[in-house]
Amino acid sequence: MTHLDIQGLSVTIPSPAGPVQAVRSIDLCIAKGEIHGLIGESGCGKTMIGMALLGLTPAGAQVAARVFKFDRIDLATSAAALRGKRIALISQDPAAALNPVLTIGRQMDDVLLTHSQQRKKDRTAAAAALLAATGLPDAAKLMKRYPHQLSGGMQQRVVIAQALATGADFLIADEPTTALDVTVGAQVLALLRKLVADRGLTVLMITHDMDVVAAVCDRATVLYAGLSVETGPASAILTRPRHPYTSALLAALPDAAPHGQKLAAIEGQIPPSTETISGCAFELRCPVATAVCHGAPPPARGSDDHHWLCHLAEGAP
Ligand code: SF4
Repeated sequence: MTHLDIQGLSVTIPSPAGPVQAVRSIDLCIAKGEIHGLIGESGCGKTMIGMALLGLTPAGAQVAARVFKFDRIDLATSAAALRGKRIALISQDPAAALNPVLTIGRQMDDVLLTHSQQRKKDRTAAAAALLAATGLPDAAKLMKRYPHQLSGGMQQRVVIAQALATGADFLIADEPTTALDVTVGAQVLALLRKLVADRGLTVLMITHDMDVVAAVCDRATVLYAGLSVETGPASAILTRPRHPYTSALLAALPDAAPHGQKLAAIEGQIPPSTETISGCAFELRCPVATAVCHGAPPPARGSDDHHWLCHLAEGAP
């Protein structure tokens, strides 16, 4: 069953240099119980999509879409109402997400008090159970501590416990392991995978890291210049990419270069977000571009399961 259905989402922000097209046209369809990776480099619009889902786009931003539905509810009018109830955010910096002057117990209780009618004793028990569910030992002792007394991995688990405390069934995880070392990051990803299996959650995993996609994502969408250029099963995106940009991204990974050889790089820059794009957004950087790529937007290729935008019938060679 579809949990999130977005077609043709755009977010335009006014600026002194003219309208900034932070998101140009995004299609994103996520099934219930799925972990969906949203992949892209800085400036591709991935965090702005998360903000649009939460109703937190900047003042003056224009959000438009052909379809913008969460569980059949229109997000154009209900995103703010769903925020913190059905949709919760796990940010990349858990230290910034937690209040430094309140104990963990108080912060858990504040969330539970907002979202439930439970008595204090029951809220304390619920907080302890949620902290335990995120793998934090000795919840009673932990709830008396302050954020600075916890490691980054423990802080991120508390943030996840708070997201669960809202009762949300859709989590937006915005680069949740970026601030953590590799081992702790892997543990947090394994925790998210377990919570999805145990509680039937759906996760939008915003990331620039293909290792994160390989570790936990069922499906993934690749963004470029505010456009969704390829969507498919994570395994297909990682091993049989069809869009030349996805292919170039994978070729640029350090592991892809033979030992001792220069790393591959994608030459050039993303088109400025104030610029109108008439052909393919990737044209100036694409190694297989042809004349037709300049004049008209690329058509969708492939199937419902795995599709991409490209003028070449078979996509990336
Ligand atoms: Fe490259 Fe052309 Fe395909 Fe764009 S449409 S990705 S420029 S081949």
